[in-house]
Amino acid sequence: MSLLVVGSVAFDSVKTPFGEVEEAQGGSAFYFSLAAGFFNDIQMVAVVGEDFPEEQIDLLNERNVDTEGLQRVPGKTFRWKGEYTYELNEAHTLDTQLNVFESFSPEIPETYRDARYVFLGNIDPELQMKVLWQVRNPEFVGLDTMNFWIGGKREALIEALKHVDMLTINDAEARQLTEEVNLVQAARKIHTYGPKILIIKQGEYGVLMFNGSKIFSAPAYPLDAVFDPTGAGDSFAGGMMGYLSNVQNINDETLRRAIIFGSVMASYNVEDFSVKRLCEISYRDIEKRFKMFKSLTHFEDL
Ligand code: AMP
Repeated sequence: MSLLVVGSVAFDSVKTPFGEVEEAQGGSAFYFSLAAGFFNDIQMVAVVGEDFPEEQIDLLNERNVDTEGLQRVPGKTFRWKGEYTYELNEAHTLDTQLNVFESFSPEIPETYRDARYVFLGNIDPELQMKVLWQVRNPEFVGLDTMNFWIGGKREALIEALKHVDMLTINDAEARQLTEEVNLVQAARKIHTYGPKILIIKQGEYGVLMFNGSKIFSAPAYPLDAVFDPTGAGDSFAGGMMGYLSNVQNINDETLRRAIIFGSVMASYNVEDFSVKRLCEISYRDIEKRFKMFKSLTHFEDL
């Protein structure tokens, strides 16, 4: 059963202490789809302008991503400019140009309306909801957001959270959203907004899952070189949702495994700029790193 994603498709200009790229392919839906496409067929809802290269759409199609829901309209594609210092966990946004997203009205193809799994990638929460309302009977809905929308569209975001099963967010955003410093208390508050499952991403320190009263913690894969953290959150969500969309039952056990698949995808993604690494790896590489995660976190009881 396929997995629908809505989010941004972008040109990203990114500077890290290890190099920089100008107008490289990115966006929440772009990273998500390339990661999730290793696990399932993906239906993508997004918008690009006239300047978006056709080869990138071919790339998506080659990697199990259906782009019938990707609209091409007159105008310029979304652009994001960001910078990281040696503190790679935190992106500093220098510029956000919504461009074609400003007047985007998502109209999802009939073939997408029966999607069972939906991921509302980081984008205006009003657009996230416009997509969700067009899906007839989704079984599991995840949502990702960022400081830009928590600050700028708070009410719409709080409304959207009533309708999702899982929220993925980073630690600073969890604090901003709840105005709680302590993450356990922030998690408790977020549960009252709607999502039963909360995933707090902590960059190189890993991930915390609050599944009701159960807590699971996974480290980030220890890499000897991280070049560009952009898209780590989206490729994490892609791996996680991609895996979940294939299991019989979403429960604590499968969610834990999904977190490791997400962490594997994020760990590959940060090894190079843009989506370069996601395009180089194979499913065998994913399985190999999944097993390494198992030995990394295994210990015996007393
Ligand atoms: P992350 O996975 O959190 O590193 O997300 C990085 C991606 O988010 C980049 O490829 C950006 O193009 C995209 N992005 C940044 N700001 C926004 C925004 N305000 N709305 C939608 N997408 C964004």
